Amino acid sequence: MRPTIARVALPVPLDKEFEYLIPSHLFPVVGVRAWVPFGPKKRLGVITALTHQSEYDINKLKPLTEVLDLEPIWPEKLYKLIYWASRFYQYPLGETLNGAMPGALRKGKPAHKQPQKIWQLTESGRNQLMQGFGRAVQQAKVMHTLQYAALAQHELATLDISSSVLKTLEQKQWVTCSESIEINDQWPSKLINEEDKRQLNHEQMLSVVTVNHIEGYECALLDGVTGSGKTEVYLQLIESVIQQGQQALVLVPEIGLTPQTINRFKRRFNVPIETIHSGLNDSERLNAWLAAKNKECGILIGTRSALLTPFANLGIVIVDEEHDSSYKQQDSLRYHARDMAIMRAHSENVPVVLGSATPSLETLNNALSGKYLHLKLTERAGGASPTKNSVIDVKGLYLESGLSAPLIAQMRKHLQQGNQVMLFLNRRGFSPALMCHECGWIAECSRCDAYYTFHQGSSEMRCHHCGSQKPVVHQCHSCGSTHLVTVGVGTEQLEAHLETLFPEFKTIRIDRDNTRRKGSLESALESIRNGEYQILIGTQMLAKGHHFPDVTLVALLDVDSSLYSSDFRASEKLAQLFIQVAGRAGRASKPGHVVLQTHHPEHSLLQALLHKGYPEFAQSALMERRVAQLPPYASLSLFRAESNHSQLAEDFLRQVRQTLEAHPLFDQQCWVLGPTPAPMAKRAGKSRWQLILQCQLRSTMQKLLMSAKPALDMLPNAKKVRWHIDVEPMDLS
Ligand code: ADP
Ligand code: ZN
Ligand code: ZN
Repeated sequence: MRPTIARVALPVPLDKEFEYLIPSHLFPVVGVRAWVPFGPKKRLGVITALTHQSEYDINKLKPLTEVLDLEPIWPEKLYKLIYWASRFYQYPLGETLNGAMPGALRKGKPAHKQPQKIWQLTESGRNQLMQGFGRAVQQAKVMHTLQYAALAQHELATLDISSSVLKTLEQKQWVTCSESIEINDQWPSKLINEEDKRQLNHEQMLSVVTVNHIEGYECALLDGVTGSGKTEVYLQLIESVIQQGQQALVLVPEIGLTPQTINRFKRRFNVPIETIHSGLNDSERLNAWLAAKNKECGILIGTRSALLTPFANLGIVIVDEEHDSSYKQQDSLRYHARDMAIMRAHSENVPVVLGSATPSLETLNNALSGKYLHLKLTERAGGASPTKNSVIDVKGLYLESGLSAPLIAQMRKHLQQGNQVMLFLNRRGFSPALMCHECGWIAECSRCDAYYTFHQGSSEMRCHHCGSQKPVVHQCHSCGSTHLVTVGVGTEQLEAHLETLFPEFKTIRIDRDNTRRKGSLESALESIRNGEYQILIGTQMLAKGHHFPDVTLVALLDVDSSLYSSDFRASEKLAQLFIQVAGRAGRASKPGHVVLQTHHPEHSLLQALLHKGYPEFAQSALMERRVAQLPPYASLSLFRAESNHSQLAEDFLRQVRQTLEAHPLFDQQCWVLGPTPAPMAKRAGKSRWQLILQCQLRSTMQKLLMSAKPALDMLPNAKKVRWHIDVEPMDLS
């Protein structure tokens, strides 16, 4: 009998599905999109079930307006995974499904390819390559990038090239642009460029052979020091997958998806390669998504959101820099893309490889316990030698804009030898606070429990938590004095000070304030590699994925805030930063030197890190976590509640606590901590409270949350405060 009722998941913040009548002219299947009436509006949802029965009065149900697809949006396994994610991460199914779709599909566009602009070299362009481009640097950049493969407009955009450059090149007839809907599900007969391949060393070979022998699902950690040739291992693993007519999914952190990365893959493979990242517009994203789904691409490289792309025939999943915190989504569906990648591989029954020089403690623990294969690359293939590491004990030393005299002396030495110096300070702006010298009043954001950061360049005070900004105050709001002083050092101040300290050398600052524009990070990095600057200042975004062979001195200016942080992951993150920067500086002929400024040179984690390296550090950090019953030895969930009325939020979390503790699944190995004010107790005018649920077993936590959630939704204050659950949070603030 024909079903008469469709259940539809809609993007609304309610954890339920809605029922609609199926008009006789529509023939939906589960997993397709449909327009439905919802209140006064029309909404787009996904049909999750077809049935004859309803607990409601059938006569009151409204009919579906329109069904958009003939077949389900996702293959069944992927649909089930998305469903699982919605349950595990405690996020309504309708919103989860909606967020998992490319934007174009969310807006009701048909699931067909959209035309896009493709740029490629002409014959005379190729000839020009030999003759060079003189001072036309931008033109040269385009031409050199296009010599290996044609690129879509959005791929060129990552190079920070203005459209006028492309126009000029087009007028010279060195490049052409075609707008097309390309459908090529025929892969070339020669899949691999053999010339590009490297002879693997023994460890690389062992890794490739081991993974190639996996049948079905298994997770492998590729634990390889920076420059040990992990990427070469990925490439050769992908080669075997492609040879068998299957596809590969490669996840990279937000900042790692550079033209260099993409080119490395394009040089090696002749199969179509697609990318998915936040810089794409709707139709570009849909095209890439469809290319993977219809097997028009062999490899999909993407950031976090690429994970939920359907594949016709997935053969392997690779997660590069698996420890990177950008894999955890911080809003809506708060999923961890690395963990979901493992689930994805499991459900598709294919191998997954997690690569890192500094594996997360969670992953490392699974490798040490034998749950994952542990593949190691201990030698540097590219031939940079290990760095020399040391600390500067800054106790009692005068710090000039955050720099101690011994550090300044070392900088001078390295700079005078013609090398580059890199300084890390994880604080943007000029100074983290502006204070009255007479009475101690500090300019504070009225909406947050935080001080204003003083930005000299723009003459503003900005709150880094709610984004509000104000002109700089010149008078104390408490005593009226005009004697205001800055407190603490941010990257902007450091930059200004270095320009007076070392006027003969050029300084560049790389942080979120000055790399917002698309491609500007890329061009800044290029000018560093060209040696235009000698002193580089950065927050940790400078550390990720970039190699700086002429940098011979790296300094971390303030490590103490990480050693004594309320975030239990702070020391792990510091260790990762340290190893990442150490691995990226210097080369064989020019070994690098890494220096840490600290008041606590004797700190045991620092000692382990400096003298024994990451594995030893990780061992002792794991031991501490075990004693404290913290992840990976327990599973955490964080409940956050915020409200204009502090009491409402606190009361709500107290009700949550009572509900959890009274639940039959809450056992001896479950604990609740809180409610307590969040580390930032007020943000954007709202009071913030939090509660931590800690369970020894992940499975207990999952069952408990799933079973208790409906009761939590019904709590008296649940509709009066804004709240959410962050399952396995990465950030406890
Ligand atoms: P990782 O990803 O581990 O940081 P890469 O794969 O980028 O390391 O390799 C670092 C450098 O070493 C690259 O220039 C790469 O081409 C080179 N390389 C990798 N494997 C080999 C090898 N087996 N023989 C020679 N060079 C290699
Ligand atoms: Zn604020
Ligand atoms: Zn004052």
